[in-house]
Order: sequence, then structure tokens, then C-alpha cells
Amino acid sequence: MTNHPRLRPGLADLPAYRPGRSAAAGAVKLSSNENPFPPLPSVLAALDEAAAVVNRYPDPTNARLVEALAERHGVSTAQVVLGTGSVAVADQLVRATADAGDEVVFAWRSFEAYPILTRSAGAVPVTVPLLADARHDLPAMAAAVTDRTRLVLVCTPNNPTGTAVRRSELELFLDAVPASVVVAVDEAYREYVRDEDVPDALTVAVGRPNVVVLRTFSKAFGLAGLRVGYAVAPEPIAVALRQVQLPFGVSTMAEVAAVASLAAESELTVRVDEVVAERGRLTRALRATGFDVADSHANFVWLRTGGQTASFAQACADAGVMVRPFPGEGVRVTVAEPEANDRFLAVAAAFGG
Ligand code: PMP
Repeated sequence: MTNHPRLRPGLADLPAYRPGRSAAAGAVKLSSNENPFPPLPSVLAALDEAAAVVNRYPDPTNARLVEALAERHGVSTAQVVLGTGSVAVADQLVRATADAGDEVVFAWRSFEAYPILTRSAGAVPVTVPLLADARHDLPAMAAAVTDRTRLVLVCTPNNPTGTAVRRSELELFLDAVPASVVVAVDEAYREYVRDEDVPDALTVAVGRPNVVVLRTFSKAFGLAGLRVGYAVAPEPIAVALRQVQLPFGVSTMAEVAAVASLAAESELTVRVDEVVAERGRLTRALRATGFDVADSHANFVWLRTGGQTASFAQACADAGVMVRPFPGEGVRVTVAEPEANDRFLAVAAAFGG
């Protein structure tokens, strides 16, 4: 008997979340998939107004934002559940579906929060390797579903590889997974998709009682610092998600900024288009230099640098360019404004593919 505080032994196995390295003075941060543009004036004005009432709790139901999202997506307000970032909604989803020992299936490599959320809930991560071209192996994921599976996470476009699932393969997959298993399609980067064969999961989810779609205001909407994301879920799942939600999570500041951003969506889309154009430019330039770059549908590119990963990331850091290395595998580089991208391209060209 020791007199140490007793914490859950499983915490020892919890992988740590590694945030993108922040940029030192003069450096550029291409390591966190952030939106490089500052908030719109209309969003700043809404925040200014909301700042005057932060002595009050937020509306516990965030009704204004829920209504705006329901209208935006053509769903009922009962289907919309908010959280402090879509990572929090994913956490609610794990806790609403999985008891200790239950299984959560996801591709690997994928969003590094998934194993953390799964293990935090005492559930068991079941990882299915990506295909050689870095896409999800959906047939293998369907085959990995067992009696213990409570949740499958499909990340499309996938972080960190940028690859996306096609409509036909997603439909086949959803047909194959029993309706008793919840499938969450994490579309944090949906707004950057330009390929018509990559479906909006909300359209595929219609009529499916077990399919949840996760979205966020952190990327295309440029509100990463305010922490707001959401699920569109069939009503019984939405009820369960609210049961495990912390009260007053989404702040008034986050809510008003999200509502203002939805109202200014066309202005934000112009910025997203710029990033998409830059993604194409970066991909072409990197391939011309000899890098192995996956086709990206997101606001970042994935360079399969293998054994060169650490030295390439170091060369970037030495030049004041922060990227996200996955040692032995590759480097994820956020697409930013042209000047920052040029700085990265200069390092890449000097390093050689
Ligand atoms: N899902 C994926 C695939 C992501 O890459 C991220 C952000 N890194 C998130 C969810 C979470 O975003 P947020 O919590 O800021 O909404």
C-alpha cells in the first residue's frame, strides 16, 4: 500500500497528443493545419459585442448556432450537437458508445487524437493500416468490426495524408457495417474538397440510423482558437451525445463568431479557394523536385519522406519553417499564404526530393 494518489493504470499507455510546434519570431507555422487568414471584420465585430457579456454564462443550448447549422445543412435542430472543437464531439461520441473493453475501429495513420480519446474512455483501439497509397482500406475496416465494436471513425480527408474516400466505397462500407455500430465520418477538412467523386458525408448519411458526421469551425472557418465543432447525427445518437456533454462548453464568443462566420461563408470560401489553388501549386512543385506527394483533398500536403523525415523536418526548422514530422513515415505541411509556401518550397528544393 503506497500513499500515492491512485490514478487509472491505463493512463500509462495513453499516447501524448503532440501539438504542432509553434513558430519562433520570424518563423512560419505550417504544423497545425490552421487557416492562415485573420478573422473577418464582421466576425471581429461580433466578438467585440459578445466580449461585453462574458460575465454571463453562455446559452446552455447554444440555440442560435444550432439553428443556423440546422438551416445550413437542411437538418433538424435536434440532430445538431456542438462541442468545444470537433475533437470534443469525437470524445463525446466515444464516451456515448463505448464502455471499458469495447472496441473503436479507425485507420492508421490517422488523426492522432483517436487513440487518446479511445483509451481515455477505457475502450480498445483497433487500427487498420492505410493502403500503400495512403487511402483508407474500407473493406478491411468493415472486416475489423466485431461484436465488441461500438464505433468506427472514418477520417476523410484523412489527417495527415490528405486522402479522401470516394462515394461508392463509402456507401459499400456503410452497407457492410451493422446498423448497431455507430460510424462517424470526420470531415474536419470537408470545405477543401474539390473532387466531385468525394461525397459530402451528410448526403450519404441521410436515412442511415448509425451514421454521424463531424465538422469544425477550426479550419475553413478560421476559428481554431475559439474551439467550436459539431456533429450532425440521427436523433437518438444526438440525445446520447448531449448526455455526455459538459455543460456550457461552447462559449458565447465561440457561438457568435461561428454564427457570424456562417453568415459570411461566401467571403470565407474565397479564402478556401486560395488555399486549394496553393495546394495544387505546392503539390506540382514538390513532385517536380522529386518528392513523393499524396493527392491532397485538405489544407495540407503529405510528403512520404520515410527515413529522411527527421532530417527534412530539421532542415525546415533551421530555415524557420515549422512542419509536422511523423518519424520514419512522412511530413505533413499545412498550405498557407503564398509567401509562407514559397519559404517552404525553397527549403524543399534545397533539400531535394
Ligand atoms: N478531426 C481531424 C481529422 C482533425 O485533423 C482535427 C484538427 N487537427 C480535428 C478533428 C479537431 O479539430 P477541432 O477540435 O479544432 O475542431
